[in-house]
Amino acid sequence: MVDDPGDIKDETPATSEIIAKARAAYLGLAIGDALGATTEFMTPAEIKVIYEVHRKIIGGGWLHLKPGQVTDDTEMSLALGRALLTAGKWDRKGIADNFLAWMKSKPVDIGATCRRGIRDYMLKGQLETPYNDWDAGNGAAMRMAPVALFTLGDEAALAQCAIEQAHLTHNHTLSDAACLAIGTMVQRAILGCNRFELHEVTRELVADYYSFRFNNYRGNASAYVVDTLQTVFNFIFTTGSFEECLLGVVNQGGDADTTGAIAGMIAGAFYGLDAIPVRWLKKLNQNVRAEVENQALGLVALSPWRQRQV
Ligand code: MN
Ligand code: MN
Repeated sequence: MVDDPGDIKDETPATSEIIAKARAAYLGLAIGDALGATTEFMTPAEIKVIYEVHRKIIGGGWLHLKPGQVTDDTEMSLALGRALLTAGKWDRKGIADNFLAWMKSKPVDIGATCRRGIRDYMLKGQLETPYNDWDAGNGAAMRMAPVALFTLGDEAALAQCAIEQAHLTHNHTLSDAACLAIGTMVQRAILGCNRFELHEVTRELVADYYSFRFNNYRGNASAYVVDTLQTVFNFIFTTGSFEECLLGVVNQGGDADTTGAIAGMIAGAFYGLDAIPVRWLKKLNQNVRAEVENQALGLVALSPWRQRQV
């Protein structure tokens, strides 16, 4: 991780800081997933009665998880990242193969749209699911972290890869737009953008798709990708730290592991590694933590940003 500072332009953050933020984005995804899984499908009022504020990685929830265990959000991201590291390049079929292997491993949870897409790949070799009005769930958006890291420094590549990975299971305009916005926010945050620049991504998204507006947040945290992003954006921009952002999101309940995962990847990238509470890092399943960190380093090493430096 030691780099010659001569490679780096004066106005950009140091290379090591960028790599640390990439790790934080991927760790943030896993932590948000593990933390939010406890309150998935609960209402804010139910959470308040039981926990006052849910703030510990304790497992449980409707999936009866062990403390620190993650769900499909992290597992599909790792399956995707593993395919890219194996191939050393973008590999849509490799990703589909890894999704299929993951589905066959009897995961603790799998979304219906993801299952349909993976089954269609298994039965027909289909790599692009046809457009479907019902595909506006958050299942493609939740696995954007490894795509953002792999394409770091090239937003055109990000756009293409985001849509290709999404369409393995989800084909809907709003899902596509969400995947792209999340990936862009993660990348720009890793590269050191400020809060206003991070918000600009949401302004562009809302300009194109007004339904994503999140002023006067109404509190819906469902798996509908519009509700999901409104929840994530609301808490990103009304809080001042990684911890505060994630606590806001997971205490909103609903699809809390997925809103947690998406908020975690953006807030992790934005606030950086030192902002992630150590108690959460320690509670996260340590095998998951190790693979997440290894993938983060490996994916960034393959990225256009890194290739330009060496
Ligand atoms: Mn999940
Ligand atoms: Mn979920």
